Amino acid sequence: MTPHRIRQVRLEGRLKRSKLPDRLFHLAVHGIGARILTLQAFLSRRVVTPEGVQARAVLVEGEHILSVVPTTDIPSGAARHDFGNAALLPGLIDSHVHVNEPGRTEWEGFQTATRAAAAGGYTMLVDMPLNCLPATTNVAALEAKRRAAEGKCRVDWAAWGGVVEGNPEDIEMLAETGVLGFKCFLVHPGVESFSKVGEQELRLALPHVARTGLPLLVHAELPGPVDTATKRLEEADWTKYATYLESRPDDAELSAIQMMLSMCREIGFRLHIVHLATGKALGDLEAARVEGLPVSVETCPHYLHLVAETIADGATLCKCAPPIRSRENRERLWQGLRDSVIDLVVTDHSPCPPELKRLDEGNFRTAWGGIASLSVALAVVWTDAHSRGFSLTDVARWMAEQPARLAGCDGRKGRLAAGYDADLVVFDPDDEFTVSEDRLHYRHAMSPYLGETLRGTVKKTYVRGKLVFDSGEFPGEAIGREFRQ
Ligand SMILES: [Zn+2]
Repeated sequence: MTPHRIRQVRLEGRLKRSKLPDRLFHLAVHGIGARILTLQAFLSRRVVTPEGVQARAVLVEGEHILSVVPTTDIPSGAARHDFGNAALLPGLIDSHVHVNEPGRTEWEGFQTATRAAAAGGYTMLVDMPLNCLPATTNVAALEAKRRAAEGKCRVDWAAWGGVVEGNPEDIEMLAETGVLGFKCFLVHPGVESFSKVGEQELRLALPHVARTGLPLLVHAELPGPVDTATKRLEEADWTKYATYLESRPDDAELSAIQMMLSMCREIGFRLHIVHLATGKALGDLEAARVEGLPVSVETCPHYLHLVAETIADGATLCKCAPPIRSRENRERLWQGLRDSVIDLVVTDHSPCPPELKRLDEGNFRTAWGGIASLSVALAVVWTDAHSRGFSLTDVARWMAEQPARLAGCDGRKGRLAAGYDADLVVFDPDDEFTVSEDRLHYRHAMSPYLGETLRGTVKKTYVRGKLVFDSGEFPGEAIGREFRQ
């Protein structure tokens, strides 16, 4: 027998004793190209699976999860990583990130965004098509993004394509070339390189989107109510948060969502509402769901944590669009999660250079709107979720399983289950920490959460079985790659 065959026979014996199901057993022994296998066992008393939180071992061979088994069933030769009481979650997936590369790397970039992601427990990001130059609105721009990402990523990534004025012919080609879906803005997106679309442009684009079967992610605010309110506030004091809030009324979101739901009903495409900020739209969204429309909804950590009542005047770090609304509204959003009208929680990580936040003048009119939170988003969400009686299973559903479903990678990512990518997060849900600059890891260490004490720390992050974050360090190479169907 060759040394390889001897090792294989030994492994066969071990695995037989471990009572693995036949199919997995075959996979473990013969693997891909029958290479020599190293079996890793990740143990915790709190492994978070769709079935609940249990003491389990996640058996990993190479890049994949072989099985999730009782800790008594670990094959004897497996390399053991015992995390004790720390929870083991599926790697989080952030389907709403602005990486800004190529073109605006002074804002962010693949290197810094994926490093921050790894520190935050994320194992895959889906990049928004705007803010980068060129915007991802045709195949050439997607190829440029791929070249820019090459060799820089610590976690896996993928791209959304843009739906803008004049690019209906690019939509199906982008889908064939590997975007996971599309994004459009109904209101000015804050950069000149990405145009907003109205009903007329959407009528040209939507039949193409529908043919791809991919989702259309919509920034749902209509310009009408925003423009009217802003005009009325021409002379107002724009260092006051209340002025900014008044300039983007609930009605801008509500009317945009109603318009999109009616087009969804008429044309038939997968509609996804990004960063829902108003609780007032939950009734319409729930009715749409009951009606059977293919609509999904996300909100963000900042809408679930911060409230308008406590945002200080001049605190432009808290500016985003749609705006953070009242405390009462925040509780409505939590109810939306409880009722599963809101499906997922993603960051809308949208950084910029410090000077664009106009911190010295504190002007909400001219400051860039966007909040960066990749490294601390899990703790922000868990702090609030825990205090409202939610479990880690809920958090894993909102931040891993459902974003994976939106992005169409739910057959490979977003769960701790046999056959899935071995994307894992070791998370201590009882540990508390104070947010400091050295924990942020993205390009510019700015955050509205600085100085806050949050619950839950990310200890380690594994991408496809490899350690990419370890208590503040980033071991190994940048192994992240693009997720392709
Ligand atoms: Zn965004």
